[in-house]
Amino acid sequence: MTSSLEHQLILRELKCPVCMGYMTPPITQCSTGHNVCSSCRPRLDHCPTCRNQLQWIRNLSLENLAAAINYPCVNKMVGCSESFTLHTIKDHEGQCPYRNHTCPYRKISKEDCFWAGPLPELKTHVQEMHNSPGDHVELDGPFKTVLRNISETSSFRQTIFTLNEIFYIIWEVRDDIFYCVSFHIGPKKNSSKFKYRFRVSKRRGGESISYSLKTSSFMDDVEEIIKGGDCVAIHYRSVEKFIKNGVLPFEIYIFPNDVTNSVEKRREM
Ligand SMILES: [Zn+2]
Ligand SMILES: [Zn+2]
Ligand SMILES: [Zn+2]
Ligand SMILES: [Zn+2]
Repeated sequence: MTSSLEHQLILRELKCPVCMGYMTPPITQCSTGHNVCSSCRPRLDHCPTCRNQLQWIRNLSLENLAAAINYPCVNKMVGCSESFTLHTIKDHEGQCPYRNHTCPYRKISKEDCFWAGPLPELKTHVQEMHNSPGDHVELDGPFKTVLRNISETSSFRQTIFTLNEIFYIIWEVRDDIFYCVSFHIGPKKNSSKFKYRFRVSKRRGGESISYSLKTSSFMDDVEEIIKGGDCVAIHYRSVEKFIKNGVLPFEIYIFPNDVTNSVEKRREM
């Protein structure tokens, strides 16, 4: 372990003098001992520090240091305060909330929105640009709603602001199956911290179908989620029993998953 000051000093040594990015193995040095990163090295015919044209050699001790310390996320300047080892930083940077993410209306629902930005700015974007009736809703507790004009080819989507988080829910009927997926929009590791309960029921204690599932991450591919069965999937004939005059009433409840992490599916008829 290193102190914060030592850590800063090591990071300073790991900055490439050409591109100013952090060097990662293989790190090469000139015969005098000046380092350059492996991306810049092939474009150089002399050392950028001392102009020496002699042989480049590996700097193994600096490579060992590089493998042992945490690097700050590439999005540090725009707000990410996390740091990671060389082995884990690429995974994080691919999902970092502060990198530019595609709008979920485009990523998941293939709509014509070309916004891309950091997740902390997504709420404002949705409020300003996706504000037709049914586009988004702000909630506290269970959410009772209806799907209108439901048919064997319908699809619907909605952003839900609740629990100080953003969720994006899709419903669709495809190949005779009614699907519902609730996506958590945020760091991937946080999606399992929430669950959603989906419930359709007939009035006055009649039949009901209910599911309770972990929310999916919006970083994941919707087709993989559906293929993997990690969502509500009910035969359309079963859902049809609950449709009255083209309207399907149902309830969605998103809540923190404090109790258990296991996926729990329940079907009551
Ligand atoms: Zn470089
Ligand atoms: Zn040199
Ligand atoms: Zn980050
Ligand atoms: Zn958008």
